[in-house]
Amino acid sequence: NEALISVRDLKVHFPIKRGILSRTTGYVYAVDGVSFELARGETLGIVGESGCGKTTAGMAVTQLIPLTAGTVMWKGREMGEMGRSELRELRQQMQLIFQDPYSSLNPRMRVNDILSDPMDVHGLFGGSQRRDRLAFLLETVGLSPDQGRRFPHEFSGGQRQRIGIARALALDPSVIIGDEPVSALDVSIQAQIINLLMELKANFDLSMIIISHDLAVVEYICDRIIVMYLGKIVESAAYSDLYGAPKHPYTRALLSAVPVPDPMRKKQRIILKGDVPSPMDPPSGCRFHTRCPERMAICDREIPETVDFGNGHTAACHLYTRANAQ
Ligand code: SF4
Repeated sequence: NEALISVRDLKVHFPIKRGILSRTTGYVYAVDGVSFELARGETLGIVGESGCGKTTAGMAVTQLIPLTAGTVMWKGREMGEMGRSELRELRQQMQLIFQDPYSSLNPRMRVNDILSDPMDVHGLFGGSQRRDRLAFLLETVGLSPDQGRRFPHEFSGGQRQRIGIARALALDPSVIIGDEPVSALDVSIQAQIINLLMELKANFDLSMIIISHDLAVVEYICDRIIVMYLGKIVESAAYSDLYGAPKHPYTRALLSAVPVPDPMRKKQRIILKGDVPSPMDPPSGCRFHTRCPERMAICDREIPETVDFGNGHTAACHLYTRANAQ
């Protein structure tokens, strides 16, 4: 399957500036050597606790964040080398859904104007097409065309996220990137929005990147998942392999917190010690060693290589490297 987006050795380091001269006194190593691909028609999940670099990694493909190193390709073309018209097309093709639908919708604009805005900017669906387009977008996300005359505050949280999704669909994109698209919503509403995203993916031939701290959310929607910890990918797998046979102790800990409806499948909850260390000064060796329940002597000395388990399932952990076997 052709890769729509291909990310190679991506690094995003944010400088920390202090004092009146704004001297750089350090860096936040938000993303530190990450590679992944998004295939056409695929939904990729990027998962980790806050501070793990998942949002920076996901957003780096939109060109909204300056890259420190590495490349991001769109259909085989390096984004950094694209001219203005190519970038414009790219912006049309790639659309975002945000965590907080309320703050991302202008409260002074009616929904129809919110949805029209991106079409005006890109000069699409103008004139007589516009009314039909607005009605189509609202109906597609489960709202009625009449509701387009209302303001964002007249809607519930779930409805506002539907408006955010309609806006993302306005330009007929091929990729949707959702940054914690359901985490601000009640659990009962989360399922509705996840179902809507799955329907849209099937009906509009979309590819998606879903960034989430919650493995229970990505389980339902993603074909493949990458797990990040302190700027690095620690495990990557098809969703069935990740949930069925997780390899990395960090993934296992995250999964142990996901509630299961079947009491026979009840798992032992793995509680991780402490918080994620600062990305300004990540731990030596395996970055997870300060919290890992399976830590070994080698772990704080050597960075684990990424081990390939087949079927695209990889994990970076000394439990599986030759260095540990010797
Ligand atoms: Fe834990 Fe060591 Fe594996 Fe890191 S390399 S996850 S510290 S066992």
